[in-house]
Amino acid sequence: MSWIPTCSDVARSVSDGSYDEGPGGRRVMLRLHMAVCWFCRRYAAQVRWIDRAAKAVWGAPAPGDEAVKRRLIARLRS
Ligand SMILES: [Zn+2]
Repeated sequence: MSWIPTCSDVARSVSDGSYDEGPGGRRVMLRLHMAVCWFCRRYAAQVRWIDRAAKAVWGAPAPGDEAVKRRLIARLRS
């Protein structure tokens, strides 16, 4: 085990899309973390919910949507 992801590593990879696309070893470690960490599971569920909502409203997440998404997530967290 060379690399143990922290919650912020997982959160970052979920919001920038690298959670599903990163290199195999890293992806496994992120999934492992997700499996044991309630906070990250809840965060990922919120990100997916926002993605789905954005797709429902705009058809697809527009480029530049990231800032809006981050603001929404920040609001959900507070
Ligand atoms: Zn975590």
